[in-house]
Amino acid sequence: MSENCIFCKIASKQIPVQPIFENEEFIAFYDLNPQAPAHALVIPKNHVETIMDFEDEGLMGRALKAVQETAKVLNLTEEGFRTVINCRENGGQTVYHLHFHLLGGRFMQWPPG
Ligand code: AMP
Ligand code: ZN
Repeated sequence: MSENCIFCKIASKQIPVQPIFENEEFIAFYDLNPQAPAHALVIPKNHVETIMDFEDEGLMGRALKAVQETAKVLNLTEEGFRTVINCRENGGQTVYHLHFHLLGGRFMQWPPG
């Protein structure tokens, strides 16, 4: 747990959220400022700052399984969705606790702005 990290507070239930999916290692919840009709965030409960900072290679596979489960709960598997990881300043990362955006419910433009 990293002090003053908002996502650590969500992971430890200090800040309550409505979980979309949860297991021992990950929690998925709705983004506060949705950029699509369905916009969820999937986070590891352990604090990892960015995609450049994880050590355990298996973490990514397990995280993507959590993304799959979240997409199923949100009924996005047929129409599809986009998953995004922003890294640091140029990537547009604002919360420095690794998270996967899961965006769906509309056609997602490519390339992103
Ligand atoms: P990023 O810009 O990739 O770091 O994304 C951080 C995301 O976290 C943004 O889309 C915010 O809207 C979202 N966010 C920040 N605080 C909260 C919160 N307390 N609950 C849900 N989503 C949040
Ligand atoms: Zn954290």
